[in-house]
Parts: sequence; structure tokens; C-alpha cells
Amino acid sequence: MNTDSFALRHIGPREADLKSMLKTVGAETMDQLIFETIPDDIRLEKSLRLDTAMSEQEYLEHITELSTKNQLFKSYIGLGYNQGILPPVIQRNILENPGWYTAYTPYQAEIAQGRLEALLNFQTMVTDLTGMELANASLLDESTAAAEAMALLFAVRERDQKKNGANKFFVSEEILPQTLSLLETRSTPIGIELVVGNHEDFDFSDGFFAIMLQYPGRSGKVHDFTDYVKKANDHQIKVAVAADILSLVMLEAPGTFGADVVVGTTQRFGIPLGYGGPHAAYFATKEAYKRSIPGRIIGVTKDTNGNRALRMALQTREQHIKRDKATSNICTAQVLLAVMAGMYSVYHGPEGLKYIANKVHNTAATLADSLEKLGYYQANETYFDTIAIKTDISKINFRAEAEGINFYYKDEETVSISINETTTINDINKIIGVFAEAASKERFYISELIKGNAIPKRVARKTEFLQNEVFNSYHSETELMRYIKKLERKDLALNHSMISLGSCTMKLNAAAEMLPLSDPMWGNIHPFAPIEQAGGYQFMLKKLEEQLTEITGFAGTSLQPNSGAQGEYAGLMVISAYHKSRGEEHRNICLIPSSAHGTNPASAVMAGMKVVVTKATEEGNIDVEDLRAKAEEHKDNLAALMVTYPSTHGVYESAIKEITSLIHENGGQVYMDGANMNAQVALTNPGAIGADVCHLNLHKTFAIPHGGGGPGVGPICVAEQLVPFLPTNPIIETGGELGITAISAAPWGSALACLISYAYICMLGEDGLKKSTQYAILNANYIKERLNGHFNVLYAGEKGRAAHEMIIDCRPFKENGIEVVDIAKRLMDYGFHAPTVSFPVAGTMMIEPTESESKQELDRFCDAMISIRKEIEKADKEDESNILKNAPHTQAMLTSDTWEFSYTRQQAAFPLEYVSENKFWPSVRRVDDAYGDRNLICTCAPIEEYMEA
Ligand SMILES: *Cc1c(COP(=O)(O)O)cnc(C)c1O
Repeated sequence: MNTDSFALRHIGPREADLKSMLKTVGAETMDQLIFETIPDDIRLEKSLRLDTAMSEQEYLEHITELSTKNQLFKSYIGLGYNQGILPPVIQRNILENPGWYTAYTPYQAEIAQGRLEALLNFQTMVTDLTGMELANASLLDESTAAAEAMALLFAVRERDQKKNGANKFFVSEEILPQTLSLLETRSTPIGIELVVGNHEDFDFSDGFFAIMLQYPGRSGKVHDFTDYVKKANDHQIKVAVAADILSLVMLEAPGTFGADVVVGTTQRFGIPLGYGGPHAAYFATKEAYKRSIPGRIIGVTKDTNGNRALRMALQTREQHIKRDKATSNICTAQVLLAVMAGMYSVYHGPEGLKYIANKVHNTAATLADSLEKLGYYQANETYFDTIAIKTDISKINFRAEAEGINFYYKDEETVSISINETTTINDINKIIGVFAEAASKERFYISELIKGNAIPKRVARKTEFLQNEVFNSYHSETELMRYIKKLERKDLALNHSMISLGSCTMKLNAAAEMLPLSDPMWGNIHPFAPIEQAGGYQFMLKKLEEQLTEITGFAGTSLQPNSGAQGEYAGLMVISAYHKSRGEEHRNICLIPSSAHGTNPASAVMAGMKVVVTKATEEGNIDVEDLRAKAEEHKDNLAALMVTYPSTHGVYESAIKEITSLIHENGGQVYMDGANMNAQVALTNPGAIGADVCHLNLHKTFAIPHGGGGPGVGPICVAEQLVPFLPTNPIIETGGELGITAISAAPWGSALACLISYAYICMLGEDGLKKSTQYAILNANYIKERLNGHFNVLYAGEKGRAAHEMIIDCRPFKENGIEVVDIAKRLMDYGFHAPTVSFPVAGTMMIEPTESESKQELDRFCDAMISIRKEIEKADKEDESNILKNAPHTQAMLTSDTWEFSYTRQQAAFPLEYVSENKFWPSVRRVDDAYGDRNLICTCAPIEEYMEA
């Protein structure tokens, strides 16, 4: 046996388990199981063209070698990306800690209080710094957050009679170029007209519903918007502000001068540049818009005992659950990065942030002063961190390059220089050297910073921020390390037990895949650095695109989308561009089966399409006759079908090829939602089923950790005819020659996270990938057989097989007074995170074990489920205090002096033997969702409240 093989470490079941597992599922061989599972006409005959698998050691050597092809320049490019310092205590205890990075989205609040608190800190930090009432728990990047702000203000404009029908959105020319590109992408399909110009010339006329400003502007200037926003308000024009989070430490909060939405990135709060991401964007607004906020919001509520507990607020109203009524399709966001940025503020506190912001400002002022002494003209009268030197750039650029320095050259005579947290006096002296030489002047050296005063008095920050206890308590490393640990202990992640979340593919996130993310040779590259400086990245990204293109059976890939839902949107926009190029831009009907994930209809509406829902049969398959009828009815305007494969019901529908061809016959393109790609890799592919485009959730199938709800990477892979339309970037050349405008801020989206999927594919190779898919199917069918007779599995393929996941029906237990959530909560007492609850069918659970779980873990899970099934049997409908209804049971309950329940403490907390060896204690009792939604609190309590207590 080759113990160097990564597949051996990635896949859970041992060779020795295979026989008994196959026996349980009633198959002679793995091949037989696969033949009975995947329809004949879509099984791949040829093997994939992928390089031979590398061992972990070989991969790590390869990636270290490759990293040396990246050149670490000092970047003063700015434009929304500024290097910061990731405190090592956060790097080691969060970024490099599977207790944080392998956690799931905190739907099961009782075993997620740690990351919920960390996210509440993030929201508090954002509301404080922006001066707004509410913030969400992150968005994908600043530019998509800006587009979300535009969409929200458009959606709520009808509340204001005067603005009913207004469809113009004014954008200041000071906006970042990538944000403008995103606004273009997002505005047109939903009927918004963008008008870009100098904000001072804007006339506040009636056709406008809102405006967007950049603070400080792209040039670096700090505009005083106080009167301006007032005037906009007087004209009932809403105001969105994109603001630099660090600048807000010194600049007055946009909320204080009347902004309606404030967005930006928290990247510079310690998150590596990573050649574009992942980073957490923020989105803050007024309480009045709480029902329309995109993404997730964490809120305070209470548990059964009345103790404070956190959970995702307004959860059932999450945007994508509104389906085609949604104004946003955000699902996965950037939780891990939000946790880290929030922790950066916890560590530094208000005084630390003031120190950092002042240092940045003073450094910029010192540089401006020095360059003026050399005779240069600095054009920004006001600024926070960015100065603009007017000179012939051809005298500067090659000298800067020779010194390993990147500036941003806005035009032929403007050198824009953005200072960041890492900039030292040494760095300043280097820059002075470049400019001195260009001016043929004698260079000089500075040895200390002067005090800057380039912030207009009227906008200098007067309001306090981060006064809460949490931002004023953990400023030594020991204290922060323990605080992080305290939160981590409250959370169940993959380092404790299986998280069998159907549709989310919570597989192993191997350490070898993660290690390179900590390497500055990958971390410290600016996304707009000249492409020659990113040789390592360019090689890796191109290779990953090729690998994904091969795996999907398509012709091209774009890595730009930062989540599956963004991929859906990107794919549909590409389809629209294709139709338009053929003079068929009227094609706007999108067929979507009723079982689809809520992001599908939400994305279709954002792409300007009309959703027509098609029926499912009783067996859970697409009703082909209904689909045919609707495709034919709309044949003149059919744009696309969105189909998930295998279906969200966990079945490889055998009619899939018939389905895709009938869409083509009627002039449409087929979009395949690739969330279930883990059931396809190396056995079949989207090309083989006849699709034209798909997204892949690299954070599901390709091993990027879930991070508690992000980061995600959602590339789209497309057939030949769609390649020309792949998305572009306004600064760095990428995408197709007829490419659509940007889908994400960065040219290759979250490039740093792409390393993980690249590692995954390199180390598994074709053989390991195929095996992974086979074992994912085996593991699912093994659970199915073990639960047989205890739970009813709702759907199966023609030969009775599940795909890589299955749905079990929990609705019959209502007879015993038991709901599906009771089972989910009871699983916590057994040390397990619940599977997906009530998707795609209400009252059911969708179980997806993945290939990474061992037979022993699958058995423990099945034992737990069967034991719970027996408890359900015993549950008395009349008795509200049964063991399921009271779940989960906390340590405080167990150790309380009184015990008033009809079952024993042992039954409550240690129901099976394996539990006592590895007990996980939920930190709160069952949370009250409704109470929290009625009393919405989305920030930490102010310090006075702690003092009263
Ligand atoms: C996860 C998922 C999505 C959304 O993907 P994100 O990466 O969370 O945006 C879409 N469709 C299905 C079926 C999914 O499971």
C-alpha cells in the first residue's frame, strides 16, 4: 500500500471496510454500485486528462517553488486594497485553526455561539465606525456590496411616493473603477440607468432615486459631504456611501451626516491581499430597511431559560428564501474573514485603531511634505492615506519598478500613492529616493513622521466608537488567545464530528491544502499589481481553470465569482450576452424546477429574466411533460433552464439528456447548478449531460473550508459558444473578448482560496478524484441502508440508489408531536451537527456524508439517528417536556441541583456509549427565534449595560 497517497488520507473508509459496506448496500463491487446509480448514457467512457497525483510532500515543494515566481513589491496602489498586518495571534488561532475554518454556517445556533459572537463583534465594529443602525455579517467584496446597496435603494424607492418609478442612479466619478464596473453589470438587467459624473455638478433632479459616493474618493480626496447629503435628503434622493473602514477612525461617520447605506471592505483590518481575496465586505444601513438587507444578520435573543443567546436574525426571511421576490441572491458570504477582521478590532481596540490610522495619515503627510520639498506638486488638498503627485509618470514608473515599488498611475501625469499600516520610514525614504532621482535632485533621508493635517476640520471624527467591553478587554496576546479559545469551544466544527449537510458537501479540508495560505509569498500580492509580478498566481490560476474545464467537460472557465450564487448570476449574464450577440436579446424566460435552491430564481431575476417554475413528479423528478409544454410555450423567448444535477432530491434523473436537448430545441441554453458536483467528478460531467454552463462551489466539492459561512469560490465553466462572454475586469485584462463587465471586484475573485482547490486536484489526480466520488456515493448509500426501516428515504434513482445524499422524511413524527427541528436539536446531545433541515422539502432532513467520513463515524451517526428514532417512538404528544423537546441539554441543566424531567440525566446527555468519550456541550439551551426577531438587536451591548449588571 502506498501510504504516500493523499487519496488515502482524504477518503474515510479503509480498504478493509469496503467489503462490508458493499455488502450492506447489496452490491458486489464498487463498479456495480456506480452502474446502478449513474444512468448509462451519461457515464464517462474516457478518463480525464489530469496530471499524476502528487503526494502531500511533493505538492508542498511544488507550491513553495511556484510561490517564488510571485514578486513581492511594495504596493501603494490602493484602490480598495491596502496591505495590513495580520496579528500572528489571529493567524495562528483562527486562520490556521480547523476549529474556526471548518465550521458550518451557524444555522444550529446552540452549537455555534462562538462564531455568532465573533460576528456580532464584526457587526458592532461596522455600525460604530459607519455610524449606522444595522450591519450584516459580511458580503463578498466592496464592489458587490455597492451593487447590493444600489439594489436595496431601488427596491425600497416605492415607499417614497415621489420616487415611484424613478430609475436613475447617480454615481460619483470618484468611485473605484471595479465598483463602477459592477454597478454597470447589476444595473442594466433590472432597469436602472446609471449616470456617472462629478458629484458637485449633480442637479438632484426627480428621475433619480439614489446616489453613490466614495469616501475618501478614488483620487484620495476627502470630500465634505455634510451639506450635500442633506440636500439629497431634501430631494428625497437616498445616499449610499462606499467608505474606507480605516479612514472612518479619523473621518466623521457617514451615518452622522445622513447616509442611508454605507459599504466597504474590511480587508485592511489584517486580511492578506491574496491577489484579490477572500476578504469580508461590510454593509450597514438604517433599521428601516432591515427586511431588505442582503445576506445574514446576527441578532441577540434568549434561550429556554431566558439566558442571552445569539442566532441568525430574520433567518426565514433570508433573501434567497424569497426566491424570485428577492432583491439579492447572497447565500455564502465571507464569515471567516469577518471573524478575523472583527478580532483585529478586538485586539487593537479604539486606541489601537486610532494609533494605526494616525500613523497611516502622518506617513502620507510626511511623504507629501518630503516630495513637495523636492519641488513636486501634490494635488490632494485633503486626504487620509492617498496623495497624488503631478509629474511625468514616464520619469517615475521604471525607477519605481527597479526599486520594487508599485504606484497607481491614474493618467500620464498623476502618480497616486496610498500608504498603509505596513509602510515604514524606510519605505518612505525609498520613495523619496525614486522621486529625487527623477527630478535630478539630491536625495535626503527623513527620520521621523510629521503630524498630518490634511483632514478637513468639519469632517474630522468627533463621535466615539468601539466603547463596548469586548473591544476594551483583550489587548494582550494571552487574553486574546484565551478569548478566541473560549469562543471556539462553543462551536461544533469538523474537527469534532461529521457535519452531514446535504447540498453543502462538508468534506475534509486538508492541512496540506491550507498551509500555503499563510505564506506571504501568496498573501501579499495586490490584485492590480502588474501581471508579470504574479507569475506564481498566473500559473496556478491558469492550471486550475484548465483542470476545472476538463472536469466539467467544457471549453473555458472564469474564476471570478466569489460564491455559487454569484456564479449563477455570472452564468446567466453570460447566457444573456450570448443571446444578444445573436440578435436574440428578447430571450428572457428562465425555466426553473420547483425543487431548485432559492438562489436560482433570485439570480435569474437579478439577471433580468422572468422565472417560470416547472413541476416535479411524485418521485421528485422533473416533470418532463410539464417542462416540454413550458419550453414550447415560451420557445420564442426561452433564455435558459436552470437545473441542479444530480437533483436537490439526491437523484440522478435518467431523463436529463432528454431535458437538456428539449431546451436546446427551443432555443434556450442550459445552466447547471453545480452544488452537487461531488456526485459527478470523474464519473460524469455537465458537458456529458448536455449543459452549456455551470458554476462549481469550490467550497463544497473542491475542499475550500466552509469557514462558518464563507469564503466561497464559485467559478463558472462554459461550453465553446459561451467562452467569448466570460467576465472581465476594468483594470487587469481577463475574461472573453466580448466579455461581460465585472462580476466581482478582483480579476480572479478570491485567488488565495483557489490554492486550496488547486492542491486538492493536484494531490488526488484523476484516480483519487474518481475514488472520492465513488466513496461519496457509497457512504450515502451505506447510511441509506443502515437507516432503512427506521426512517423513510424519500427519493431514489430507478434502481433504488441514492446519489451522494438523501432525504429522510420526518413529517410522520408529527403524530408523536415531534418536529424535524426537535431531531436536529437532539442530535447535538449525541455530538452531531444536524443535516440540512427542510430543504428542499419542508419537514425533512437531507444527509450528505461525503467521502471523507470513515465507516466508524457513519456508524456512530446512524446509531444516533436510530436511537433518536426510538426516543420519538416513546415521545408522548401530550408531554411537552420530553427528551426531544428539551434538547439540547446543557452542562448547566445536568449539574443543576434540581432535575425535573421524566428521564434521567444519563439519558439526556450520554445516550450512547461513544458520547461519553467525546462529549460536546451545547453552550445554551434552545434559542427563541421569534423573540429575537421581535426585539431586533444586532450589536454588542454598550459598556454601560455591563456596568449596570
Ligand atoms: C449552496 C448552494 C447554492 C448557493 O451557493 P453559495 O456558494 O452558497 O452561494 C446554490 N444551489 C445549491 C443547490 C446549493 O446547494
